Amino acid sequence: MINYSQLFQDHKEPRLHGRYLTLSHLEAPLADLPKEAISVVGYSVQNQPIYAVRLGSGKTKIFAWSQMHGNESTTTKALIDFIRFLQGDSVLANQFLADFQFLLLPLVNPDGAALYTRENANGVDLNRDAIDRSQPESVVLRKAFDDFNPTFCFNLHDQRSIFGAGSTGNPATVSFLAPAYNAEREFNETRSQAVAVINAMNKELQRHIPNKIGRFDDGYNANCVGDTFQLLGVPTVLFEAGHFPQDYEREQTRKYIFVALISGLKSIYEIDIVRNDIDEYMNIPQNIPNFYDFVYKKIKIYCDGSKIISNFAAQYKEVLQDNQIQFRAYISKVGQLDAYFGHTTYDCQELEFIANGNSTPVEGEEATFSLQERIYFENGNQLS
Ligand SMILES: [Zn+2]
Repeated sequence: MINYSQLFQDHKEPRLHGRYLTLSHLEAPLADLPKEAISVVGYSVQNQPIYAVRLGSGKTKIFAWSQMHGNESTTTKALIDFIRFLQGDSVLANQFLADFQFLLLPLVNPDGAALYTRENANGVDLNRDAIDRSQPESVVLRKAFDDFNPTFCFNLHDQRSIFGAGSTGNPATVSFLAPAYNAEREFNETRSQAVAVINAMNKELQRHIPNKIGRFDDGYNANCVGDTFQLLGVPTVLFEAGHFPQDYEREQTRKYIFVALISGLKSIYEIDIVRNDIDEYMNIPQNIPNFYDFVYKKIKIYCDGSKIISNFAAQYKEVLQDNQIQFRAYISKVGQLDAYFGHTTYDCQELEFIANGNSTPVEGEEATFSLQERIYFENGNQLS
């Protein structure tokens, strides 16, 4: 049995932390690698290098890329931790290096990373550009895929804190998808192999984060890179790093992505597609956008001239300021919230909402208010 927690502690890159992760943050970890393992496979719109890490000499080729969405850095941290694990001279790492050949792109969208945007510097979502390849980053990614001719692809992302693992009331801390290759969302040999790897990762992760694993929506979109690669006959797995309770820096989730990478690779040795694989996969609860960062229940508000007991929710916006990500809570929904969960929930005990002398929460306003000017909330949180 692998002690994943120990493995993570032993190899975690201490120079990376939090959500804002740019090319300059990656320079030191990459500089530790042997020179021949690193190459520049292309340049971004703003002429920033896109680095590739090549390790291992085995037959099975693993192509993984992260942060094609610039503000999705959790899987990049985990991928760097994984690279350090590979360099760590353990029995398992050496076995991986003998059996696999890795091509790893830790930061596909360096311009978006610097700006902390999903899109690249031209405002294009690179994961909707697989067919047109109108952007240099899309060309680089596709060329790396074509040249390497992988056996397996890992497409690494973050998802917003709005997703729950079904209606369990648990956040989807990690979600997976075996992308569809056609509109009918059929399962062929290629997609079934991706499913088998997801099942293995789900099984391991259930030991660490029970019922906090989700299955991402599988609507087919040929403009998405994963759907395209699956269509081209290479089993592709989408990873989505999500919210773990009180872990907005996603340092816990980082560990679970690391666990997923290692357990997923281990399973590739043992892939033997069986009939119930699809059922097992479909039984992973589907991602549902049923979470807010804050839910305030039983609050007295003014509505159409009369006082009623209602609820409201607030959601963080992530704002880049002074090279750090600030989480700012804004009111995002007022009214019936029975089907929703909060990462933080307050029972307001029918006390009256007051913000700037106003008794009605307004969507889009900052979540700074009081209950009857007795209990104060700032940026979503109750002040002690
Ligand atoms: Zn993404």
